[in-house]
Amino acid sequence: MARRKKIYEGKAKVLYEGPEPGTLVQYFKDDATAFNAEKHDVVEGKGVLNNRLSEFFMTGLNAIGVPTHFIKRINMREQLIRSVEIIPLEVVVRNVAAGSMSKRLGIEEGTALPRPIIEFYYKDDALGDPLVTEEHIIAFGWASQQDLDDMVALALRVNDFLSGVMMAVGIKLVDFKIEIGRIWENDFMRLIVADEISPDSCRLWDMKTGQKLDKDVFRRDLGNLADAYTEVARRLGVLPSNVTHATKPTLIN
Ligand code: UDP
Repeated sequence: MARRKKIYEGKAKVLYEGPEPGTLVQYFKDDATAFNAEKHDVVEGKGVLNNRLSEFFMTGLNAIGVPTHFIKRINMREQLIRSVEIIPLEVVVRNVAAGSMSKRLGIEEGTALPRPIIEFYYKDDALGDPLVTEEHIIAFGWASQQDLDDMVALALRVNDFLSGVMMAVGIKLVDFKIEIGRIWENDFMRLIVADEISPDSCRLWDMKTGQKLDKDVFRRDLGNLADAYTEVARRLGVLPSNVTHATKPTLIN
């Protein structure tokens, strides 16, 4: 069998050429990175969990009319997606102060924000993904004013959907990051949600205990990352309760 063509390899995922034009296969790795890849580890089973969770969130978004790149899951680690031209911005939505916002503005982590706050970061590892304003985005041609309006609308719809889904299982959506891409249909360009939505790109706190169920477990050495993601998947009904993150074959005597 011919080896399929690798299009791009990132920190947590690999993109391969898809079976049809305009499609790609997105493979989820077990690699966990933080602090611009200064901290790196392999967390067994993380890729399987994120593939499932991203499928779950993107399928839900598609169902309520928020367009995403997700077409279908292929296997444990791979999904078929639409090929997009990624806008070089990370779009962060915050409901509660945490992480870099708490640090930058001196707001205690856990402080509820008066309204969802949207931030844009320019995707450039060499620069450490700096915070940018709409002025920079338009002046440097990363996106137009119309794109920005559409991105804000998409981000807020994703926030409403994800907040509701998580609240229903006792989890507070503190903040999250999405990436957005362009697709062309005939002469028209549309923006759709791309990349992934998973505990790698969200902050998720248990509503009762405040326990962190997201990548901060890895960033801050708070315990086993796969256990935290498995708990999110279990509550959402994405994994049967008796399935753990073990992916190795088990010998049955
Ligand atoms: N985030 C992400 N990728 C990044 C940076 C941030 O997915 O490269 C997510 C992060 O998991 C959190 C939100 O975006 O849910 C806001 O992150 P923040 O700006 O607080 O940065 P951090 O504290 O993670 O450096």
